[in-house]
Amino acid sequence: MKNKPSWLKVKLPTGEEYKKVRNIVSEHKLHTICESGNCPNMGECWGAGTATFMILGNICTRSCGFCAVKTGRPLAVDLEEPIRVANSVKLMNVKHCVITSVDRDDLKDGGSIIWTETVNKVREVSPGTTMETLIPDFKGDWDNLQRIIDVAPEIVSHNLETVRRLTKQVRIQAKYDRSLEVIKRLKDGGMRTKSGVMLGLGETEEEVIETMQDLTNAGCDILTLGQYLQPTPKHLAVQEFITPAQFAKYKGIGLKMGLRYVESGPLVRSSYHAEKHMF
Ligand code: SF4
Ligand code: SF4
Repeated sequence: MKNKPSWLKVKLPTGEEYKKVRNIVSEHKLHTICESGNCPNMGECWGAGTATFMILGNICTRSCGFCAVKTGRPLAVDLEEPIRVANSVKLMNVKHCVITSVDRDDLKDGGSIIWTETVNKVREVSPGTTMETLIPDFKGDWDNLQRIIDVAPEIVSHNLETVRRLTKQVRIQAKYDRSLEVIKRLKDGGMRTKSGVMLGLGETEEEVIETMQDLTNAGCDILTLGQYLQPTPKHLAVQEFITPAQFAKYKGIGLKMGLRYVESGPLVRSSYHAEKHMF
């Protein structure tokens, strides 16, 4: 593994708010992408009293080359999960929350029913809290996607993760064009849309710009660009540490292109500073 540059050094998680979030997560038997994804921002986010819940269990049916979430046969759907998420959001007392899920390609509904129940429960228990849902592609089953559009979370995101050329290597079961189609359908359905791309996997500047253009054309409103970090030696290796100046350059290009909001920096993750996206 390459040595991390200084701009990737982060604070270790500590403090009262951090402990409060940890207790909420464990008492409600929930999963977070913060922990499952080895996110470097846990000190900051949990220390500020927020976390991103991951629903539909913690075992994913896919095996993306960059992702630290466990792969395998998931457990049965937990029908109580939506209310536990809702109660936890309430306890965290946040204005805006982010929820994501593993991919459940084993389920006919792709998990979309639990998704809608979760959105509805959070609304019922915390009517003042806005929501971002980071959803899968539902294998291109547009009826399942429609369920999300019908409950209309304030922001709906779907990550493209990488440029076209590297998609097969980075997320083997996904398709670049299918993910763009998800964004397009969300936009056509009236959603505020968001996507995320990781850099440092060997993509060129030209490819990053082309990806931003594809997302803009698909109707993406908000984009996050962050540095890929290899979670374990078994995962894809980091090819390059992108400098903060290069991240800033991409931000400028993206905004010029017509993206409404671009969060771009080494430690940016799709749920990082997500409350800012409620512009
Ligand atoms: Fe969790 Fe997102 Fe913050 Fe990372 S950036 S710790 S995944 S909320
Ligand atoms: Fe990770 Fe999502 Fe890929 Fe599953 S689909 S392996 S959770 S990135």
